[in-house]
Amino acid sequence: MSSQDNREQLKIESRLAQIGSVEEPVTGAVSFPIYQATAFRHPQLGKSTGFDYARTKSPTRKVLEDAIAQLESGDAGFACSSGMAALQTIFAKFGQGDHLIVSLDLYGGTYRLIEKVMSRYGVTASYVDTNDLDGIEALAQPNTKAIVIETPTNPLMMITDIEKVCTWARSKGILSIVDNTLLTPFFQRPIELGADIVVHSATKYLGGHNDVLAGLIVTKGKELSEEIAFLHNSIGAVLNPQDSWLLMRGMKTLAIRMERHQHNATRMAEYLLQHPDVESVYYPALPSHPGYDVQNRQSSGNTGIFSFKMKDARYIEPILRHIRLIAFAESLGGVESLMTYPAVQTHADIPEEIRRKVGVDEKLLRYSVGIEHIEDLIADLSRAIELAKQEIEEGVTLHG
Ligand SMILES: *Cc1c(COP(=O)(O)O)cnc(C)c1O
Repeated sequence: MSSQDNREQLKIESRLAQIGSVEEPVTGAVSFPIYQATAFRHPQLGKSTGFDYARTKSPTRKVLEDAIAQLESGDAGFACSSGMAALQTIFAKFGQGDHLIVSLDLYGGTYRLIEKVMSRYGVTASYVDTNDLDGIEALAQPNTKAIVIETPTNPLMMITDIEKVCTWARSKGILSIVDNTLLTPFFQRPIELGADIVVHSATKYLGGHNDVLAGLIVTKGKELSEEIAFLHNSIGAVLNPQDSWLLMRGMKTLAIRMERHQHNATRMAEYLLQHPDVESVYYPALPSHPGYDVQNRQSSGNTGIFSFKMKDARYIEPILRHIRLIAFAESLGGVESLMTYPAVQTHADIPEEIRRKVGVDEKLLRYSVGIEHIEDLIADLSRAIELAKQEIEEGVTLHG
């Protein structure tokens, strides 16, 4: 079922648009079919079509898995029922006595998985700013098995030098795992920079339409690929055929979506940067961002999400009440604009002291900028800020 010819030489835009378009040999369908079957007939004893039982391998899922492996420059891809299922599948490599080094400004669900679930299996973790190699080295123990990086982090958009950290990890025999959810292989390919494993919440940019929950893993190297294949099959948190198809359908337009997300987010960040009621803007596309140079070196573009702090926490509640086009909702990476309040939503599971240390406070909003027209988005947010300001001023007069 593979007539890839020289398609691997094509530019990424072409490879994305063509996902699954030549894999169906019977009818020539350019949209790969949804194979709903869980059982596959064996031609004879000891022979297989390559498919036996759908948890192990399933045709629609396989096209997706091969596509993401190729896009991320890895050797094998694995589709899971969510980003968390993907992370759990990877973490199942670790057990009693193993230690992990992890990004301090981490996705809340990953933090919860490590601290509340993996801890039951005897896995411990230390949290550090993964851009600080000395800090990382100081935490390394003989039983340190892996380093888990997010770059940019969410919500504070801290940048880690992937190559630097992965080179160090390799020299110590430590596995490097990079969560590439925010940039996708369109903008950043961590395996090319030395990572062993890339993980995605494909629910976000890869799916891109706020309508499919999925996770993806890409591995580099035969032994590691075989081990993750074993865990993927043993745990069974695999992606179903319908959602595999939906995800591929979304990924076909990844290139143009990411370009528009980047364009809109940059314009929006620049707008907020000069807004008198805004204290700070966290977006690596801004030259003032501390990670600007590293980001430009290791990625070909910027994500569509960023965060900003209002000068006063009293703005937050009315802003979230007054935005109309931008939805007050969790999640990110879809075509629709969503705004999140990290301190009480995505990061509620992270202890307050860690939240404060990284700067997730009650003045911070995270904005996943969609692909709507930028002028409509700026109009919506500026109106909400204006109304919030009026309410605050009236409140002051009222109580003062
Ligand atoms: C959303 C997210 C996850 C979790 O993925 P789900 O698909 O929600 O399970 C992991 N990492 C990052 C960076 C995320 O944004």
